Amino acid sequence: IFDMLRTGKWWRGNGEHVADFETRYAELIGTKRCLATASGSTALMTSLKALGVDAGDEVLVSPYTFIASYNVIFMQKALPVFVDTDPETFLIDPAKIESRITERTVAILPVHIYGLPVDMDPVNAIAKKHNLKVVEDACQAWLAEYKGKKVGSLGDAGCFSFQNSKNLPAGEGGAIRGNNDGVMDRCHSIHNCGRPYGSIARTSSYPISGTNFRMQQFQALILMSQMNRIQKDADIRLANALYLDAKLKEIPGIIPYRLVDPNSRSAYHLYPFRYIKEEFNNAPKDKFIRAMNAEGLPCSAGYGQLNREGLIEDTLNSRGFKRLFSETRLRQWRDENILPGNDKLCNEAVTFSQNILLGSRADMDDIVNAIAKIHKNRDSLVS
Ligand SMILES: *Cc1c(COP(=O)(O)O)cnc(C)c1O
Repeated sequence: IFDMLRTGKWWRGNGEHVADFETRYAELIGTKRCLATASGSTALMTSLKALGVDAGDEVLVSPYTFIASYNVIFMQKALPVFVDTDPETFLIDPAKIESRITERTVAILPVHIYGLPVDMDPVNAIAKKHNLKVVEDACQAWLAEYKGKKVGSLGDAGCFSFQNSKNLPAGEGGAIRGNNDGVMDRCHSIHNCGRPYGSIARTSSYPISGTNFRMQQFQALILMSQMNRIQKDADIRLANALYLDAKLKEIPGIIPYRLVDPNSRSAYHLYPFRYIKEEFNNAPKDKFIRAMNAEGLPCSAGYGQLNREGLIEDTLNSRGFKRLFSETRLRQWRDENILPGNDKLCNEAVTFSQNILLGSRADMDDIVNAIAKIHKNRDSLVS
């Protein structure tokens, strides 16, 4: 990094490191192309724009996620339409997708939350039938697999984040992966101020409208320095997670996530399970979490009901949205914003962060023993 600093070649336009990282990451995940971006959010925004999502369109999205997943849809002046979550998998329920499609729907944005792979076959089949684009939010799913294939390579575009909290961090950073040269050329052009790239014709200096979402050389070098450990770390997390799965499900009221396909693996950005309070003397989840913390186990409560965030009503009531969407449509949107599966999951979810899964087998036993102890002493949770 210091060598690169001294050269003064700090941006991708005059150095090779960003392009090198793109080649390496495409190889790692098994796609033809990769484009590095400034962040996961800008990767998502670039993909949505490249695939033609425009003002007044609708995009189907999972509500059990980080807020960025649907904010990027609002940034396109499009309407995020939530599809309910299957609480057993923590993921978008493919059976709930079709009833949410309208004549304005142009894309589906499934989220591989916590690194858990979405059931992509039915998602892609529905997309094909209704002529929709698929943008995978794989911002927590580096090296996760669905039916033996890496996630992020299964839709029209797959987006990753390298923000500092992620399993592959670079302070900030992101990537888009794809197999379609036309789409990836458009992404490149859009993220580079609309300059010509590949098949994006050199009809003028700026053939397409775009902006600056470029990754810096520093970020690429930090990412390259981690390429050797990322698979190793993922394997350690997986082995510990499988061990926890087997042990935790023996404890009444603790239900680990369910994978949608046995030939899949999660990236475990977090390790999630559900807490069923009826098995813990009806103690509310926050009491359980406090008891866990008292045992020295940091864990948290997962995502809240993001479909009820105040920013949504503010956006729907904004001048622009009132121009773009009819009152009838927005009323229907509100009537349909009832997500019992997602609400149930928000009530029950508990998560461990990924670094806990990098511990030893003895550390995993400590986790299991602590939860078993809390269950045994559940009567004292409510006193
Ligand atoms: C982190 C994250 C993003 C956004 O990535 P940034 O790099 O922070 O912009 C989007 N979606 C999900 C699910 C994420 O976890």
